[in-house]
Amino acid sequence: MRIDILTALPSLLDSYFNDSILERAQKKGLAEVHVHDLRTFSKDKHKRLDDYAFGGGAGMVMTIEPIHRAIEHLKKERSYDEVIYMSPDGELLDQPMANRMSSLKNIIILCGHYKGVDERVREHLITREISIGDYVLSGGELPAAVLSDALIRLLPGVLNDETSALSDSFQDGLVAPPAYTRPADYNGWPIPDVLMSGHEAKIHAWRHEQSVQRTRQRRPDLLRGSDPDEAGK
Ligand code: SAH
Repeated sequence: MRIDILTALPSLLDSYFNDSILERAQKKGLAEVHVHDLRTFSKDKHKRLDDYAFGGGAGMVMTIEPIHRAIEHLKKERSYDEVIYMSPDGELLDQPMANRMSSLKNIIILCGHYKGVDERVREHLITREISIGDYVLSGGELPAAVLSDALIRLLPGVLNDETSALSDSFQDGLVAPPAYTRPADYNGWPIPDVLMSGHEAKIHAWRHEQSVQRTRQRRPDLLRGSDPDEAGK
């Protein structure tokens, strides 16, 4: 998977992709993330990327030209499955959406700023709009990093234990069960006995039961329309 991110603030993204799992994924050649500074595509002598809104009102709007030039530049090199704009009024990102999108080969992600982008960007250049939640951030960089991370960690070979992404929350419509590590007794707070039993089937059943119980308590919305005792079996 190749992800090209278009941003006015590339430095915000550099450290995130140059560490940990995402760095490893790139070193292994499983994912490529390229961060592009939109200013390099601006013809304005001050390299401005925004302007006042027609009709007045508070807040600057990102101009279409540098964005159009950046997208055209990338499209000349290869074809893209999606040109995504991160936007609070887009489709809400969730795990099933990330699963489906993880099979894409090349995507562009555009990060907005200020009041957002000139509407004609969305009408003519964007193929999909995605939100990371019902709240407003000051820029699309964190949302672009969230989407990229959600996709990259699903690529086969990125996580050391390949089954581990499958046992994460939401993969089976349930939240994840609790996890414990050494020491087995810390400060008089022991771990559940079943985890020390060495009995795989019992441990599996316990984890499933914990997942169902937690989902009922914390996210009953996930269970609506499904039989929790059947989910994830
Ligand atoms: N005026 C816009 C908000 C602009 S916020 C509105 O009310 O919809 C500035 C930029 O941050 C947006 O262009 C978008 O790229 C990004 N952004 C903010 N919140 C976001 C969210 N929840 N999901 C995805 N992108 C978001």
